[in-house]
Amino acid sequence: MQVLIVGAGLYGAVCAHELMREGHACRVIEKRDHIGGNIFTRYVPEAGCHEHVYGAHIFHTNSKRIWDYMNRFAEFNHYVNRVKVSQDDALYSFPINLFTLYQVFGVRTPEAARERLAADIVPNDAPANMEEYCCSVIGPTLYRLFIEGYTLKQWGRHPRELPADAVKRLPVRLTFDDNYFNDRYQGIPVGGYTAIIEKMLDGASVETGVDFHADRAGWMQGADLVIYTGPIDAFFDYRYGVLEYRSLRFERTLVETNDFQGNAVVNYTDASVPFTRILEHKHFDMNLKEPVTLVTHEYPQAWTKGDIEYYPVRNEDSEALFTRYRDDADPLSPRVHFGGRLGEYRYYDMHQVVGAALAFCDNVRG
Ligand code: UDP
Repeated sequence: MQVLIVGAGLYGAVCAHELMREGHACRVIEKRDHIGGNIFTRYVPEAGCHEHVYGAHIFHTNSKRIWDYMNRFAEFNHYVNRVKVSQDDALYSFPINLFTLYQVFGVRTPEAARERLAADIVPNDAPANMEEYCCSVIGPTLYRLFIEGYTLKQWGRHPRELPADAVKRLPVRLTFDDNYFNDRYQGIPVGGYTAIIEKMLDGASVETGVDFHADRAGWMQGADLVIYTGPIDAFFDYRYGVLEYRSLRFERTLVETNDFQGNAVVNYTDASVPFTRILEHKHFDMNLKEPVTLVTHEYPQAWTKGDIEYYPVRNEDSEALFTRYRDDADPLSPRVHFGGRLGEYRYYDMHQVVGAALAFCDNVRG
């Protein structure tokens, strides 16, 4: 089969690798001038580490199949994401765990923490929005400290106007475990993510800096299967209007110190601080040797056409719009397949992308 893959991100790369193993010929075209999509990393010699150019990417999964799969392409280090929160000049352990509860309330044991939380929460069996959900799980004090301001900046909307989904990913623990994720496997690839994508694409014909939308019919000509990983609304020329996305702006600075903040990720939860987090990339690679460090301030921003679509914003309106696009996409199947965070309009993590791509390729195999 001749396969055309639009987009050289993780979804496209896994598909290319799997389909090439079956003997199919894969041509991969990519709009940006590099492969890897948003997991693109590049080595910064001054700081002795890889830069996560489009924001922090920490690989984590509960699936042994997906973990073993990724480990075929890279060795992973033992990085565990342990975020700190800066709020009004104070620093807190995060996600909320017993140490956070000690810092905020002075409680020292799981039992005391449980009692303190029980006294604080506002019971609600059917929370109508993120604020109500948070107040029913962690109470208003913790909600205001950690969630309200950050979420307002991240999504450009007050948590009262948002569904609770996005925060449900965050654990709340009454132990001192401050791991950001509950998954069994976690790490950062030694050598960066771009090297993984390169290996996955080995054997494919890859062209970067080309625009599929400029000549869709031309690119698709002769392809038995088209795997499209770009935004689904762009594929249809936004015929029903644009889907809602959230974008990001990154400000990178090389700082003359070997360690700027002592951690890879520090979240800033005050609404008055314009950025949401500061990343210090050398901590991802666990190498603090160099006398220079690279830090990135992450600023969420509204998305307009032409910006990178970082987060799909799923709400009732965008859900309905997406359904219309998907209804137009369905009849194109099986020749045209829509996949990945933008093709499926889902807030996927990397392991979910890999899982979905493997499932699709299993399906192609039949
Ligand atoms: N969140 C928050 N405060 C924080 C971190 C996260 O309120 O300090 C909320 C926010 O709504 C965010 C969601 O939790 O969008 C998910 O956070 P996560 O760090 O998983 O998001 P990502 O890394 O995908 O941007």
